Amino acid sequence: MKTLYKNGTIVTMDPSQPQVESLVTEGTMVVGIGSLSDMKDLAGSRCAIADMQQGTLFPGFNETHNHLSWYAIFKEQAFLGNCNTIDDLIESIKIHYNNKESDVLRAYGYDDTGLLDGRQITRHDLDMVCNHKPVVVMHVSAHVGFLNSKALEFYNITPNSLAPAGGVIHFDEQGKPTGRLDEHAWFEIAAKAPAPEANSYRELLRTAVKDFNSQGFTGVHDAGLGLEDASELVIRTYKDLEAENELNVRAFISAIPSVFDTLNVKPLETFTTMVKVGGVKLFLDGSIQVETAALKEPYLSNPEWRGEFIMDGDEFSALVEKYHCAGHHISVHGNGDAAIEKIISAVEKAQNKSNLPSRHMLIHCQTASRKQLLRMRGCGMVPSFFVMHIHHWGDRHAALFLGKKRAHRMNPVGEAEAMGLPFTLHVDTPVRPVQALHSIHTAVNRITSTGKQFGSHLCCTPYSAVSAYTSMAAYCSRSELVRGTLSVGKYADMVLLSKDITSCAKETIKDAKIWQTITNGRVVYEA
Ligand SMILES: [Zn+2]
Repeated sequence: MKTLYKNGTIVTMDPSQPQVESLVTEGTMVVGIGSLSDMKDLAGSRCAIADMQQGTLFPGFNETHNHLSWYAIFKEQAFLGNCNTIDDLIESIKIHYNNKESDVLRAYGYDDTGLLDGRQITRHDLDMVCNHKPVVVMHVSAHVGFLNSKALEFYNITPNSLAPAGGVIHFDEQGKPTGRLDEHAWFEIAAKAPAPEANSYRELLRTAVKDFNSQGFTGVHDAGLGLEDASELVIRTYKDLEAENELNVRAFISAIPSVFDTLNVKPLETFTTMVKVGGVKLFLDGSIQVETAALKEPYLSNPEWRGEFIMDGDEFSALVEKYHCAGHHISVHGNGDAAIEKIISAVEKAQNKSNLPSRHMLIHCQTASRKQLLRMRGCGMVPSFFVMHIHHWGDRHAALFLGKKRAHRMNPVGEAEAMGLPFTLHVDTPVRPVQALHSIHTAVNRITSTGKQFGSHLCCTPYSAVSAYTSMAAYCSRSELVRGTLSVGKYADMVLLSKDITSCAKETIKDAKIWQTITNGRVVYEA
């Protein structure tokens, strides 16, 4: 049956026909866009009517970097993102696990820079949560973890332990582990978390997808398959939900090399299905707020320290070349300008070997210089900026980690727009809660949580910020032929907002309401 959308604004994000009066869907597809009278003729008298009630219809949002399948697992754990003190944090974990059977108490979302204590937690703090079971806390950056004494014992981390390459185990003055593990030392422990039971995971994934639908998302790039020990379960659950027509989000999944190499991914394939394992995920550095991002100049907070690569530079370049020359999509995590430089050089080198279309994604890309952006344009890369950092951590970046000058040019979206470099945006859930509107708002306004503006000349236009979640996001995953704009022959993946965020007062973008999310022509969220 056909459905006629009317009585609102339709922003297609397709420059050849930017705004239309009406749209018709049939099954999973958009079959017509144009004037109301033409669309009425096309839909016929027996069509269903979708009354937009003066709202504005956009293509569904697509977040190009998050960890949806991992976030689903976290939904069972204690969330620490709302804690103000270490005492709060201890209490939150206790309350979460009160009356719950669990061998290991796990928690996520811990952000030391948001606590009044002004220090990191140690194994002693976490021993106060529980001294007879392991307690494992992941830092909000996802690049650092904290263990209590039982967990250190459980994972056999002792005063004599050596950290793996690209990782750090922190020791106190007596030479005992403090409980803090960085980068690969942490990833090894994170990967040991047992996979959830299949039925419960299916429900967790459905609930996590609902969270994305409720914020207007019809697509995600789910990155880092293999960060947990549940890759098979994750892929199987996605595919089962797809087969049963119960998957309400299109997922482009990328995996770490050890998992990717086992998956027989076909190169240079256009992404047209609901689920595609389509990319390899690499890391070159960590996070600015735990001083593990690799910078060219030292941290303000630590004048002796610039961070470092978490992988040998030559080994990294060889991996980029291997996957690029095989025609695969690569997503690389790079926060610091030294890491960004190395990533671009590796892609340029690989491009010289094999001139395949790349569209490789540079994830976060927070401290890129103008010159680096120009080089990304030159070799066909797509930065995915974590622009919400300006709102959430911006004041702390200026005061603590980077200083005012570097903090003010973070995530230079306006510069990318001006030079015609396609870019996308993300909030890296579970690093930040699922949402798109505040991220679009921040790309356009660049305002911190205390109201300061960072680099007014680096704001992008509202249209470009919306493209970053729609047409550019589809381009990045080679799926622009089937989604990303509201066009005839593309999937009916759409979001109905209370107002047109490309033309409203730009200070009010974040106040728009999500009225409806539609995936494959089916309403999957309604306010
Ligand atoms: Zn991430």
